[in-house]
Amino acid sequence: MALDPITMLTLSIALAAAAALYLAAEWRHVREASLLFWSAGFATISLGSTLALLRSSGILLVGIWFANGLLVTAHWLFLLGVARFTEARLPRSWYGIFAVWVAMLLLPEGPWWSKVMLLVNSALVALMMFKASALLRPHGKSLSVGAGQLRYVLLGHGLFYLAKAITAAMPGTLIDLAAFRGEIIQISLVEGAMAIMLIALSMTGSERYRREKRIERLAARDPLTALYNRRALDVRAPRLLEDVCASRPGALLLIDIDHFKSVNDLFGHIAGDRLLIMLSEIIRSALPNRALAARLGGDEFVILLGDTSSAQITELGSALRERFHDATQSFATPQPVTLSIGASLFDQTPASLSALIEQGDAALYASKRGGRDSVRVVDRTQVSEGLLQTP
Ligand code: GH3
Ligand code: MG
Repeated sequence: MALDPITMLTLSIALAAAAALYLAAEWRHVREASLLFWSAGFATISLGSTLALLRSSGILLVGIWFANGLLVTAHWLFLLGVARFTEARLPRSWYGIFAVWVAMLLLPEGPWWSKVMLLVNSALVALMMFKASALLRPHGKSLSVGAGQLRYVLLGHGLFYLAKAITAAMPGTLIDLAAFRGEIIQISLVEGAMAIMLIALSMTGSERYRREKRIERLAARDPLTALYNRRALDVRAPRLLEDVCASRPGALLLIDIDHFKSVNDLFGHIAGDRLLIMLSEIIRSALPNRALAARLGGDEFVILLGDTSSAQITELGSALRERFHDATQSFATPQPVTLSIGASLFDQTPASLSALIEQGDAALYASKRGGRDSVRVVDRTQVSEGLLQTP
């Protein structure tokens, strides 16, 4: 089958319709508005390409001006989708693009008609694609892999349309839109089919990648305090524990609120939640560089430190207890709501995080049994293990 314009247009109609359906199906699943705009853009290309076929029947106003207007509209919808994706606002002046296209109706017929039509059409598409790719530029934070890919695909598409506009402006280039004559039109039809596939794939890719990242982030965090959960700690701890050696000991601190139940019982579960959030903020603000903190569940939290010492653990534990003491002033309970901390200092990579937590648990239990409101450090870096208690 020869790649004549009619065949290429038919192929584009089918590809654009498939892309529109594919993106609509994605939207049904994830409900991101950008997918809907992009789907509508491809549906518009499918319709525009169908109307473009009418040129061969001599219906030129619909087959050229209207069909190309739909191509402009489709790219406008792509741009709107990118604006939604990046949460950017598009200035109203961008609607002026449609005014330019309507003004093209006033273009007098003549040998230049096809050239000017193609030039303006291509320049408008290029402009919108450059804007879309600029919106996808990383602003401060790094861009996701998917969005980065979409950015370059749209930029490439824009550059192609810019080249098309320049070629149309050059004297002597043959362009006959009514008869699909001129090399640039042939090349454009091939690029169109390729661009449909690349753009549609990059669009779904960008949304999927972002969704995956979001799910990953949610799965790693405790929903109440936004600290890491046990699963996330399991994943991140090995890197920190690998560096542990005699000159850079590591430590695990297990923190449990004393008499937390009485806060729930006397002030309600919501007040209890608020106290857990307060403690998580205290932990976060006191956390040294490269340390990890997580909520294990209930009122139990854990801190994992690298390159530390017994003195630093005691200092950190005391700072946490003091700040927590200030935060609990408003909770008058029969028994004081304080912090018990059990810590284990070690100079060899432990067998597992669970084993380490068990050691911390033993120290925590000793702190609870010793009257609560204290830091108990078990120093496992010495041949004879030492026990240190700070009230
Ligand atoms: P102890 O001094 O021995 O540590 O006793 P405690 O009262 O602090 O109670 P314990 O640590 O044994 O149990 C923790 C309690 O925390 C049990 C549960 O009612 C409560 N709890 C667990 N998760 C949540 C939560 O997400 N929000 C609130 N508000 N309470 C919780
Ligand atoms: Mg407790």
